[in-house]
Amino acid sequence: MDAFDDDRSEVIQRAKDNGIDYVLNVGCDIESSLRSMELAERYDFIYGTAGVHPHDVKKIDRQTYDQLKQLLAHPKMIALGEIGLDFYKNYSPPDQQKEHLRKQVELSRELKKPIIVHCRDANEDAIAILSDYFPKDPSARSGIFHCFSGNQELADRALEMGFYISFSGSVTFKKSEELRAIAKTIPADRLFVETDCPFLAPVPKRGKRNEPSYVMHTAQLIADVRGVDIKDIQRTTSLNFFELFGIGKEAKTGTVSYQIRN
Ligand SMILES: [Zn+2]
Repeated sequence: MDAFDDDRSEVIQRAKDNGIDYVLNVGCDIESSLRSMELAERYDFIYGTAGVHPHDVKKIDRQTYDQLKQLLAHPKMIALGEIGLDFYKNYSPPDQQKEHLRKQVELSRELKKPIIVHCRDANEDAIAILSDYFPKDPSARSGIFHCFSGNQELADRALEMGFYISFSGSVTFKKSEELRAIAKTIPADRLFVETDCPFLAPVPKRGKRNEPSYVMHTAQLIADVRGVDIKDIQRTTSLNFFELFGIGKEAKTGTVSYQIRN
């Protein structure tokens, strides 16, 4: 993200200092996916994704899918995304969004990588398309519904298809009572928190440029809502990262010794 061009290494250091174990830095077109790969190569605890965001699918050309395949061959490019539907902005025509969601999901199946789903004002279409590829299996590791902004129905259907649910700073906003109620219902072993930076800085940083270290404010709110300690959220989400991507401390020791249930 250009927003970090001036102080990227300081921002990354602050993330480490604030106890963040892993960063998943998403791509949203070929150019940003390439930069995501370069950053993942420079830092041990940063991983990348490659995919074409629903906003940008109108830019897809004949080479795009080959380029995605090449990027995803890199061992630190661990998911395909962001992909999905955004009928709120409709920066790309809805038909193209649906077509390229299907095509990218098919690529993810071929490459056996989880997907990062962006879904805004498109709950029913997203469920309809994804359920063609992800049969009911709550124990599957299908991917992450990122920056979750849907309703309880979408959360339940996503969980049924084996997805994880990730909350951004928007869950801390005053008006987000429905999101907080949903956050309470997500099984601990299906939960993530994220920044979606540089956007959606959580309270009390709302309105500022968001950065990874601020995710602790979101984690604290989720902990409060669920009546647990922030350390539990930290451990759970790191464990979930390991479960979904096979990456992390647990992978090295070969044991999963700690699991929180709600
Ligand atoms: Zn998104």
